[in-house]
Amino acid sequence: MHRKKTIHWSMRRTKAYMLATVPTMTCCRCGKPAATQWRVCADGPPRLLCVECDIGLNAAILKWMGHPKAKRLMADYPKTLLASLQGSRHG
Ligand SMILES: [Zn+2]
Repeated sequence: MHRKKTIHWSMRRTKAYMLATVPTMTCCRCGKPAATQWRVCADGPPRLLCVECDIGLNAAILKWMGHPKAKRLMADYPKTLLASLQGSRHG
């Protein structure tokens, strides 16, 4: 019998996936060194992204969602992402 595993909100990641320990991986979009990875729904395996493309993808997703606080969230996101990346290199 197959039981479906349920992921609750409390189990979700609060930080981006970091690849600081894998510096040779490159962004799937532009070829720069990858810093994060994204998995979009059932769209296959995670894709590696550089900082700039990660920020651009976040902005595009918020715009696509029609998120009411998209501008404010994107104003904060770059520094939050960079702080997370810095933390992952020292942790
Ligand atoms: Zn890129």
